[in-house]
Amino acid sequence: MTIYLHDTLKGEKIPFEPLTPGRVTMYLCGPTVYNYAHIGNARPAVVFDLLARVLRRRYHVTFARNITDVDDKINAAAAAAGKPIEAITERFIRAYNEDMGALGVRAPDVEPRATRHVDDMIAMIEILLDSGHAYVAEAHVLFDVSAYKDYGQLSRRDLREMMAGARVEVAPYKRAAHDFVLWKPSTPDLPGWESPWGRGRPGWHIECSAMAEKHLGRTIDIHAGGQDLVFPHHENELAQSTCAHKGAVFARYWLHNGFLSIDDTKMSKSLGNVVLVRDLVKTVPGEVIRLALLGAHYRQPLDWSDETLESARRMLDRLYGAIRAIEVPPDLRRRAEVPDAVIAALEDDLNTPKAMAEIFSLTRELNRSSDPIQKQKLAASILAAGDLVGILQIDAEEWFAGEGAMLPDEVESLIEQRNAARAARDFAKADQLRAQLAASGISIEDGPDGTRWRRG
Ligand code: AMP
Ligand code: ZN
Repeated sequence: MTIYLHDTLKGEKIPFEPLTPGRVTMYLCGPTVYNYAHIGNARPAVVFDLLARVLRRRYHVTFARNITDVDDKINAAAAAAGKPIEAITERFIRAYNEDMGALGVRAPDVEPRATRHVDDMIAMIEILLDSGHAYVAEAHVLFDVSAYKDYGQLSRRDLREMMAGARVEVAPYKRAAHDFVLWKPSTPDLPGWESPWGRGRPGWHIECSAMAEKHLGRTIDIHAGGQDLVFPHHENELAQSTCAHKGAVFARYWLHNGFLSIDDTKMSKSLGNVVLVRDLVKTVPGEVIRLALLGAHYRQPLDWSDETLESARRMLDRLYGAIRAIEVPPDLRRRAEVPDAVIAALEDDLNTPKAMAEIFSLTRELNRSSDPIQKQKLAASILAAGDLVGILQIDAEEWFAGEGAMLPDEVESLIEQRNAARAARDFAKADQLRAQLAASGISIEDGPDGTRWRRG
């Protein structure tokens, strides 16, 4: 069976085949860390976490999700708080990982930070200057859009039309309105790095091009992000990387999630209608939020309301209710496979509504069956599907006891895993496990005698 993915560049669903047999490279544009993630920001993180899980069943996957930790909004937040930039970024990187962990998002394989890749960005900009795709003007370096004939292909924009419709006011150092910044100068009060063009900082787009190459190679299999990133961010990444790599394909599949809205209005910081993940997980189990985010197909818009959450909660009640009274022998649980129909749905451009419908049809079968062995097998299949989707992660009794209250054994086991992750210096994983505990109302404290925990 073939995996199908919808590619924004081709504008259709096409068979997926990685460049190197058996291996997949995947890059997701991650957060700009100057405040807490809202539930719209969580949508790409959850959706593409699921895609990585689905691909990992078949391939060795290297999944990179970057952190944009140099940005004018970060500078503004730092100035407003009277703190150094790092105080802001460190705090919100940690918060992001905790919040996504609470939604069952696994740590990516690589989490590159822009500030640690400035040399790579400078090197790429130098290549673009040498090849005549960029120019220097007033301590800025700009990408010369007219030097790349395919510019506009991803977002299906015609450059001439864009020029005609361009705003009249263009920064004086630009040759053309759509030329974009690769490097810009920094005043002494702003973060900056020495470069051949003076002390400055990178533009946003070059960050991802440089980090994707560094960690995944010149041609990556999948490049993902929210729909709003198609233009200009991904269009510009595509132009830069293709020109810096002498025409080599940059990303073989471009995937974009639809927008999350609230009362039919886009959820965004500037509109002030955001629901922060951090606030929501205080009262709603992470599994409920995750399932609500996966309830619509990822390319469709998703309108968020109390009803979205309620319906996800009811679905989990039904699923936990079906498996509640069934003792699945550990051996059967371990051996259980995800049902083919669930996999087929997920491998068909991540059709989560269909996958959930398939899980529910197993539930109905289970409820109808009177054969205890058959019931155990069905429950084991449902649990295996839950592991893949990232739901049904707690014991059914606990779900109904307190929708998230963990048993001491489970708490201990998660703490052990976290300590192992910390010993291996895998702090992203450690943070994720701490968040998982926090989402179930368990707080932990590291001390000289080990880790203590308590409820609440
Ligand atoms: P930002 O931190 O604003 O750069 O956004 C991080 C990610 O969240 C990007 O992939 C955006 O496309 C995505 N995103 C932001 N707002 C929404 C929304 N309302 N619905 C879905 N995705 C969003
Ligand atoms: Zn990006």
